[in-house]
Amino acid sequence: MAVRNIRQLGDAMLEKKCREVKEMTPRIKELIEDMKETMYEANGVGLAAPQVGVLKRVVVIDVGEGPIVMINPRLLESSGEQTGEEGCLSVPGKYGIVTRPMYVKFEAWNENMEHVVLEGEELLARAVCHEIDHLDGRMDVEKAEDGLHDVEYEEYEEEDE
Ligand code: ZN
Repeated sequence: MAVRNIRQLGDAMLEKKCREVKEMTPRIKELIEDMKETMYEANGVGLAAPQVGVLKRVVVIDVGEGPIVMINPRLLESSGEQTGEEGCLSVPGKYGIVTRPMYVKFEAWNENMEHVVLEGEELLARAVCHEIDHLDGRMDVEKAEDGLHDVEYEEYEEEDE
């Protein structure tokens, strides 16, 4: 396993549509493992293959409940709305205000190429939509209505309770 280089905003790879994965191969298995490692190293909640320069429909997500591997993911249903800060490992230190569904139901294939149907709310719904966008060369963080903001790192003072 290896940490891969994350492409940054402006890289042409981030604007391309990715191809479907037809079968699991050792190369794709290695890609998935590397993507997980790269995501954890960067403290991200999701990473799409084009962000590491591979134009295939492969995504990894972990919103704190363990890794989810999504191959050829597709939204089946969505409902509700949430508007909030959204970041991207390809735009480090910045966030945009992006509106996403509050709930999504989606299908994908896992690392064993088994078909799965999953649901997610809140952060998971946001992450799924964000990563599927990457597979189609879309980055809504960049297009956020009121632009990109710098993430401000607050200094927390230690407090005794
Ligand atoms: Zn992203």
